[in-house]
This record gives sequence, C-alpha cells and structure tokens, in this order.
Amino acid sequence: MIPLPTLSRGGLLPDDRKTLTRGSAIWNAALPTQCVVPLHQHAGAAAEAVVAVGDRVREGMLIGRAVGRNSAHVHAPIPGVVTAIRSGEVYPGRPSACVVIDLEGEFDRLGKPLAPAEWQQRSARDLLRNLRECGVVGMAGGGIPADNKYTIPRGVEIEHLIVNGAESEPYLTATHRLMLEKPAEILEGARIAAHIVGARRVTIAVGRDKRDAVAAFRRLVRERGLPFSVRAVSLAYPAGDEKLLIRELVGREVPAGRLPIDLRVIVSSVATIHAVYEAIAFGKPVVERVVTVAGSMVRTPSNVKVRIGTPVGALLAECGGLIDTPARLVLGGPMMGYTVADMATPITKTTTGVLALGTDEVNDGERTPCIGCGRCIRVCPVGLEPVTLVKMLERDRPGDAAAAGLADCRECGCCSYVCPSHIPLTETLVQGRRRNGGGAP
Ligand code: SF4
Ligand code: SF4
Repeated sequence: MIPLPTLSRGGLLPDDRKTLTRGSAIWNAALPTQCVVPLHQHAGAAAEAVVAVGDRVREGMLIGRAVGRNSAHVHAPIPGVVTAIRSGEVYPGRPSACVVIDLEGEFDRLGKPLAPAEWQQRSARDLLRNLRECGVVGMAGGGIPADNKYTIPRGVEIEHLIVNGAESEPYLTATHRLMLEKPAEILEGARIAAHIVGARRVTIAVGRDKRDAVAAFRRLVRERGLPFSVRAVSLAYPAGDEKLLIRELVGREVPAGRLPIDLRVIVSSVATIHAVYEAIAFGKPVVERVVTVAGSMVRTPSNVKVRIGTPVGALLAECGGLIDTPARLVLGGPMMGYTVADMATPITKTTTGVLALGTDEVNDGERTPCIGCGRCIRVCPVGLEPVTLVKMLERDRPGDAAAAGLADCRECGCCSYVCPSHIPLTETLVQGRRRNGGGAP
C-alpha cells in the first residue's frame, strides 16, 4: 500500500485485492445442515434464549429476545430442531451462548409476502417497532440495533442521512455487488430510513472505484425523481469510517467521544439499509447476509449470500475449499477484521467477509525497535502520532496519551500496517483506550 492524499489526511491506497471478487455476482450458499446462532452478535446485551433443546423452529422464528435497548432479537436462520444451547466464542474474548439448530423440515418462513408492503403512511414509531422485531442491526460491523440508532431524541432534527457504500477495506466487495444488484431496494431502504429519522437530505456515498454502482444509483435517482444526491467518495482506506465519511461529505469533524447525531447526521451502511428495506417491505428478519469470501488460499473467491450461523468452514467448502492451510483466517476486512482459529466459528449479522490469507498476505514479523521513519504518522487519517501515543501507553502514562488525542483514534489499523518494525501500534492503542474507559470509536 502507498499513502494516498485524497483522504485529505493520511490513509492508504490498498493493493487492488478487490479484483478477486469484484466481478463475482452474489450467489446463494447451500443451506447448512447445522447453524450455530450466537445470541450475542450485536452491540448491547446478549439476547435471551426463548427456545429450549428439542424445540422445533421455523425459519425466521424468534429464538432470542433482546434484553435492553441496545440489544437485538435473534431469529432462526433455518427450520429444524434445537439440538443444543451452548457457549461459543464469536469474537475473540467474547463468548456467547449459541442456539444450535439442525436443519429439518420445510421452508415456510412466517408471512413471506410476495409484494412489498406500503410503508409511506406508517408512523416512525411503528416502523421502528418493525425493525426491532426483525432484529436489524448495523451490519458493517458495529451491530448497533437500527431501531435504537434511528430513534431520534426529542428536539433533535436530523439534517442528513448518509448511506455508506464506500467499502474501502481491501478484499471486500460484497457491498459493491449489493449496490450493483439491488440498487432499487437500497434506494427504497434509504427512503424508509430517511422517513423514520426525518432526514432532510440523503446522500448515497459510493467509493470512487465503483463507477458502475455510482452510475446505477444516479440513473435510478433520476428516473424516480428522488431528491437524493449520489456522491463518489475517496477510495482510500479508511474512507468508509463513518466519522471520516462525514468529514469528507459534510466538511465537519465529529469530536472525540461524540456521535454523528451530535452533528445531526446519521450514517448507515448499504447492508443495513438493505436489511431495513427487507424488514419493512417484507417483514423479513435478519437471517442471512452477503459475505465476501476471499484471500489467496480460497479456491473460488466469491460473494455469497449465507445464513447467519453457518460455520466458516462450511462456507469456505462452498467456495471450493482451501488451496492450503491459511496463514491467517480473518472475519471482516484485513484491516479491521479479527483473526479466528476455529473453522466452526459462525457467520453473524456483522460478518462482512471471510478471508483465508496466505503468508504473503499477512504482515507478520518480529517486533524490532522503532526506526523513527514517521510512516505511522503520515498514514494516520486523524492526524495522531501513533508512535508517540504507544510510547506513552507503554511507559504507563495514560493521562499523557489521553491529552495527545488517544480518544480520537479510529482503530483503523493503518499505522500497524505500514510500520516496518512490526510494532503492534493499533493493538496497543485499542487496549489503551479500553483500559482507560474508552469504548469502540
Ligand atoms: S489506528 Fe488510530 S492511530 Fe493508527 S492510524 Fe488509525 S486512527 Fe491513527
Ligand atoms: S512506523 Fe513504526 S518504525 Fe516508523 S516511526 Fe512509526 S513506530 Fe516507528
């Protein structure tokens, strides 16, 4: 990667690993014979199981009830029998109870309407209830329940809804394919979301490398007379970070510790907006998602629509299996995703990609002393000095790190990626933030 100035500050221009799957139209994975469905695959508290071992479930049936405002319902992705409820590790260090469903019976998901339902006359409150019932969460990784994000406090007027189709993480093209193949549904989802939050403006933000998707949206927006703007945004990584996207589109910074709503802006990913559409138009709960399966160890890199709870190993097998043992198996993108060791790890609502990477695709190496090259500083998109912050944290000076802007870190991974000394900069900053009371960015 090389630094790219088009992000206004810092950032990286990824090697074009997206070519592996950019041309791969979305196909449906075969149904897994068993799904392992985590009850904690969103922000907030884990859902509470409402089924027991031995119960028969139908596709789309509620199996986990949200506990508290930031929690989300969980539904059966396949029909079958609950054969176990056991603990499993979904994210590193975060175990979750999982409902294990063995495939059995027929597909008759409750209320599968053939035509989309009218929603224009429905109140925001009613639509929010629908989103909650369907377990819609931020599907680009955040996992914040959509009904929570779209509940606007009294007295706040939302100026701008941004639909985030930047997809700047290397390798990932699922969002690109979704935009190409479902542009009308995404625009309708954006209309629904804008109606709920009362947004005055809607911008569809698409990475500049996805010209075909930009053209598809512009054509549809024109044909339908929608008052939306379609913007081609930077293709540098991490242009898709919501605060950086706001900086690029709105020209204002969301201060550390504050949220986009404080600038009267709401940002939702394309995948989330698509799930919003399916929930409102068809009453469809989140039981599947589109995932990019890539990396040099995958025989047939693809974009696949897969049931939540499908084991990663089963999905890789669908994509022709592995060429060799991967040096690293990553869920999500290579920059912000996380490494998993177990092929039984399930796909969740927030899994954007499954990457089986070869040795030439990982930046592993022995840590050596800092050589003062300044690369980490040049790539930081928020203007921090990662090397200085890490020294402060490692010398147990968290107060100094806080004063130097630790809370502004977007955890994007750029600094670690470019460090020739293999210093775990991002990891140290993430841990430093968590230890000192900072949450996720
Ligand atoms: S991880 Fe944080 S410090 Fe490192 S480049 Fe990204 S924003 Fe800057
Ligand atoms: S990139 Fe690594 S070696 Fe270079 S200044 Fe930053 S920490 Fe030091």
